[in-house]
Amino acid sequence: MSQEDNQSVNMNKIISIINKAIKKCPQYEQSQNYLLESRKIVLFNEGLREQIFKCQDEIRLIQKELTQPSKKLRRKANEISKKYKCSNCDKKYGSEASLNLHCKIKHAFSETDSKTQIDHSFQI
Ligand SMILES: [Zn+2]
Repeated sequence: MSQEDNQSVNMNKIISIINKAIKKCPQYEQSQNYLLESRKIVLFNEGLREQIFKCQDEIRLIQKELTQPSKKLRRKANEISKKYKCSNCDKKYGSEASLNLHCKIKHAFSETDSKTQIDHSFQI
């Protein structure tokens, strides 16, 4: 088959696809404001495009964070003075929040007056 024959076959295919699409197309309705509807579609597409750009920016940020995570300065465990002692076990913590979390998880309650039980032996 020559190149011209191929092109005419492709053209026929395209025409038959268009004809099928036209048959499926709903009839023109006088009451419908097609200009307004097409304007809505254009605006909707613009909104979608903006969302895509936002998503792409977020993906870029996430990928950057994954490849080069920002280093958080954290104190080492032995640098923290653990002055908050659990009244139910021997655990000690550097903050009231940590102790409360421990109590909620291990002893199923929140220790609110734990700050009065400061273990001075651990203070520097
Ligand atoms: Zn405990």
